[in-house]
Amino acid sequence: MNKVNKAWDFFIDLMGFRRNSKYVRTYLNDANIKSSIYMSFIIIVLEIWMIIRQLNEYIVPNWSTPEKYGYASSTALFFGMTSLYYLFIMCSVAMMVFGIIHLRKKESDNLFIANIILGSLCVLWPLMLILENQVGNIKGTNVNIITLFLLYFSMPLFGASIIGNSLYRRIKDKNNTALSIAVIICFALVCLLFGIKVGYSDYISSSKPKMITTFLTMIVFVACLLIWKPYISIVMLTSIFIAFLFMLKNYNPGNNDVSKRIWLEGDEINYITFLISLTVITISIYQQRVTEAKKDEKLIHDAIYDHLVEIHNTRFLIDKIVTNEFINPVFSKDKIYLFINLFNFRIVNDQRGFDKGDLFIMKVARIIIKIFGPEFSSRQSDDHFVVFTETLGLEGKIEALNKSLADISEGLFIRLKVGGYRPKPNDNPARSIDKARYACGMIKKKSEVIFLEYDDKMDEKVRKRQYIVNHIDEAIAKGWICAYYQPVVWSKSNSLCGAEALCRWIDPNYGFLSPADFIPVLEEARLIHKLDSGVIQFVCSNMRRAIDEGRPVVPISINFSRLDFELMDVVSELEKNVKEYKIDRNYIHVEITESALADNLDKIKATVGELQRLGYDIWLDDFGSGYSSLNVIKDFQFDVVKIDMTFLTNFDTNPRTKYIIDCIVQLADRLGMQTLTEGVETKEEAKFLEKIGCGRLQGYLFGKPLKLSDFEEKIQNKELKIGKLL
Ligand code: C2E
Ligand code: CA
Ligand code: CA
Repeated sequence: MNKVNKAWDFFIDLMGFRRNSKYVRTYLNDANIKSSIYMSFIIIVLEIWMIIRQLNEYIVPNWSTPEKYGYASSTALFFGMTSLYYLFIMCSVAMMVFGIIHLRKKESDNLFIANIILGSLCVLWPLMLILENQVGNIKGTNVNIITLFLLYFSMPLFGASIIGNSLYRRIKDKNNTALSIAVIICFALVCLLFGIKVGYSDYISSSKPKMITTFLTMIVFVACLLIWKPYISIVMLTSIFIAFLFMLKNYNPGNNDVSKRIWLEGDEINYITFLISLTVITISIYQQRVTEAKKDEKLIHDAIYDHLVEIHNTRFLIDKIVTNEFINPVFSKDKIYLFINLFNFRIVNDQRGFDKGDLFIMKVARIIIKIFGPEFSSRQSDDHFVVFTETLGLEGKIEALNKSLADISEGLFIRLKVGGYRPKPNDNPARSIDKARYACGMIKKKSEVIFLEYDDKMDEKVRKRQYIVNHIDEAIAKGWICAYYQPVVWSKSNSLCGAEALCRWIDPNYGFLSPADFIPVLEEARLIHKLDSGVIQFVCSNMRRAIDEGRPVVPISINFSRLDFELMDVVSELEKNVKEYKIDRNYIHVEITESALADNLDKIKATVGELQRLGYDIWLDDFGSGYSSLNVIKDFQFDVVKIDMTFLTNFDTNPRTKYIIDCIVQLADRLGMQTLTEGVETKEEAKFLEKIGCGRLQGYLFGKPLKLSDFEEKIQNKELKIGKLL
């Protein structure tokens, strides 16, 4: 059964019964139009040659005796013998001009006018000939007259289809495939009828026919240069051949001597072989073209559509906006770029698997297309979409999007975030999308806000971000980036036990920049490792200098970003520096935030293990600020747990705070880990923390982050007393 189905499918495809996609239809049609242009050119040359031949052989020698061919005057002889050629040349010129216009992207006034004139001539000239009863003047058989009649009618049809096409294109500014197929059909008809007429009349009027092959030439053109669906070609070729064969064999021209004909029995076989070959060639060219067109279609599809969902990709959207000059002031007025982000989308992948995640994205894409239309909607990547749309009714559309998103979320907490940017005339689309994305990022953490439009104040922020990304290397090289040192003290004695290195960027343009200005930017740009390796070097080199100068040093804890473990080899970076500056590994502590470890990345875990083996202390930063604090201390043995400063925020007013901190300290103690509380600002806090057994304290009470020179000076003049260090 399966085999039968397959065979049937194969047959359907082979015969071209299956409907092709619009792209394939257009491709085939364009290929036919190209062939028609070549053919028209050949015809024009051929017909001019024919006119010269007629002149030479019939007209000039018989100029004074036109009656010999049944004409009343010499002029009638001239036109009578050549008029068909002029007509055919005219049709070919019209076809050529039409083809050129069709394949061109841009309209041209001159070509349009030329096409209309030629089309009109094709309509009027043959009609005029019919009206003047020129046909009746022609001597010949019935077949001859009928073919000529048909020819004279098919030419106006051809002219009309050309005019229709030109007008359509003029009004709608695009081609119409169906109409242009009509042109090709009419042209094919003209060619065939011309071939039959010339071939046949030559055959019956002369004992030594020379032009019988005109018909065959035309058949080859119509069937092999113009490619129809195979079943059409088969029907067309077979019926024409049978009809012609029938005429040749059975028609008795009366006074002509049948015995003088050159038709031989053997020709029949040749004739049929020719028919079969032509059919096979036609089918194979058709199949070849369809395969090519499908390949092309797929390539184009892949280039402009997202691989996952049937929505354009953003690159295509940008190209489309640029190439169609949609950035011009008139078009871009009242338009807005939207950057759509599904916040927390990761949860779908995490909880339901990637298949469901993909499915979800597809649904979202469909909703976006439904609301904003397919033309200017696109997917940028992951769960990010970009839309170019009218500002009118925007709020309603975003609301609808939000609602539909909630409908398909099936209880998962996915939030819609949309950033917008209204382009100014001639704004670059890629930059505009960046701005919309920036606005979208601004509301990432504001759960109640769905939509934010970019404004010029953000422009400054964007510039600053760009500046940071562009200048990170220079900032490190030129020492614009340095570490400030914040004291860490023992809670019992308040004497110094170390310091935390906190980086600062002192910029020649922007002045003092704090980590909040540049760390998130560098993380987003995946450049944070440059900064952190700069800090490692800063810390190690300065420690070496202090040792060399005989001044006391304290252990320094250095902050590492989660991304450092992806972007650089943390172990070798540290090892390189401690070896180069001959630093005791005990004097360098590694601070990692709990969220870095909660991500459960095996690589980070392995690196942390390796660092501990080498003798670095690992400090857990910001304990209690994230979601999976307890999990993290379950899996890791840290040297020190840094209790996040948010626990101290309402120390006085909320009695539960104290209780919680107390419990954390005890918990860590039982797990064999030391504790440090950050953000200590008051004596009461310090006293309480000491009482519950939190070993180390850090905060403004003991010192703000200080410039290295100030920090060293405070140690020097004993403002900061060094206690036990290790
Ligand atoms: P963090 O590691 O939690 O650093 C503590 C932050 O709290 C520092 O802010 C510090 O100045 C501030 N702080 C210290 N004591 C007090 C206090 O008593 N009260 C208050 N209100 N704040 C206090 P800073 O220096 O702005 O650093 C912010 C964050 O930037 C750091 O948080 C850290 O996550 C990150 N960071 C700083 N330097 C680096 C670095 O070199 N590399 C990486 N990757 N991140 C860094
Ligand atoms: Ca820290
Ligand atoms: Ca911290």
